[in-house]
This record gives sequence, structure tokens and C-alpha cells, in this order.
Amino acid sequence: MYRTFVRPNHAGWKTTDWVAWLTEQHVAPSVTADEEGTCALCRAPTPTDARGVHYTRCFNCQKQYASVLDGFVPMCYSVHDGLEGILWRVKNSPGYEWLRAPLASLLWEFLGRHLSCIEKAYGGPFDMLTTVPTHSETRGGRNHLSLILQSITPLNNLWTEGVLTKNYREKAGERRRRISTDLFGCSANLEGKRILVLDDTFTSGGTLASAAYTLKQARASTVIALTFGRQLHADWDEHRYLIEQLPYRNLDLQECPVHGVGLPWS
Ligand SMILES: [Zn+2]
Ligand SMILES: [Zn+2]
Repeated sequence: MYRTFVRPNHAGWKTTDWVAWLTEQHVAPSVTADEEGTCALCRAPTPTDARGVHYTRCFNCQKQYASVLDGFVPMCYSVHDGLEGILWRVKNSPGYEWLRAPLASLLWEFLGRHLSCIEKAYGGPFDMLTTVPTHSETRGGRNHLSLILQSITPLNNLWTEGVLTKNYREKAGERRRRISTDLFGCSANLEGKRILVLDDTFTSGGTLASAAYTLKQARASTVIALTFGRQLHADWDEHRYLIEQLPYRNLDLQECPVHGVGLPWS
């Protein structure tokens, strides 16, 4: 079961207050650029080779995801006791609608500081910001990402939703580790467009990569993914060391998650 979160007295709170609240909850440790031993694409720790040297990309990123995802930026790391619980509450727990506010605030403050960094790092301004949709029958058609975006009007206005549609429901807990060519549909012509696509979390990466695949099929030139969390798993050997470090790491929005990743001046 996920932990509970006590609703603060947030009358008059600004986005910076919500980010401070998230920091106090210790649920959103920052992702740092070029972290030793982590995958250059998905930011999860990579296994080591026979000499004990970490691979620069994990297997799925190397073999599949890098062909459709030109980049990926998580706002923080997510673990079971951390951000995963907030995301789960927002999606599934009535009475926790207020947790949309800290997520929207994190996104707003993060983009304010780092959207231009992401654009510089990955080839220029985006033509479109869009979301990975849920299936129309999931949770009665309530799309939690839309609801999060709608909680801050200027944030919502940046996004174009409905570019992708989800063709079928995934089974609860299903973790696809591959690109599904038919999971999403897109009727738009995105020829030459540079797209930032938002999802809540990167877990196995298959859903995001499938969304990126469909955007590329619709002729997008560049697809960069952004998520609130990069999920780590305590029962995966190669993730354990990083998970043990996370309690000592804060959410620090001054820390740039992309500076130093493939930049000409790095
Ligand atoms: Zn990877
Ligand atoms: Zn930055």
C-alpha cells in the first residue's frame, strides 16, 4: 500500500510553495546530468560488463527505444515510497485530487527553469508539447495528466492534447518492455515537427517509446519525452545502489538535468 499524504493548509499557496512541500515530503529526488553508471537515455542505473564497467545505455534503450526517442528528461527519480505513491493517489484515490497541485507546480517550475535547456540540448525550440493519453475507458475517461495540466491555466495553455489516442487498455500492472506499433494512433500530420511528449512516469519505457514511435510515424522529426518520475525498482540489483542514495538527495530545481548531456559547451 502506498503511504498517505496529509493535505497542508494551502490557501494562497504559489507553485513555489508546492515545490517546497514536495521537497519536505522527500518524494522527488533530483536527477542529475551525466550521473555515473546511469543510462544516457533513460537515466536508470545500467548493469556492468565483465570488467565491471557500466554500460552507457541499458539494453532496451540501446536496442529499441533510441530509434524513436531522441531524448528523455525525468524531473526526478520515483520509487515505491516516493513519487509513485503521489502519482497513484492522483490516479486512483478519491479525495486526493489536491495532489494535482504539487505535480502541476513541479512541472511549471521545472519548465520555467529548464525548458530552454532541454531545447538547447536537443536541437532547438519545440513546435508542440503534447501528452501520452490514457485509454478513453480507463478510470471513466478521466485523464489524470489533463487534470494536472488544467490546474494551472498558463501551463495548460502550453499543451496540445489529443494528438495521440490510445487504441486499447493495458492490463493493470503490465510492464511492456518493447515498442508496440499499434498501441497509439495519430491522425495528425506532424511533418517536421519537434515534439515534447509528457507522461507521468518512465517505468519500463515501453509505453513512452510506443507513443514516440507513433509520433515518428506521423512524421515528427524529433521526439523528446518528459516525465515527472523515472521509476526505480528496489528488487532490481542494478537499481539498488542509487535507491540507497536517494534519501540523501533533495528535489533541487536549480540542478539542471540536461546541462552536460551532449551539449557543445559541456
Ligand atoms: Zn536506458
Ligand atoms: Zn537547465
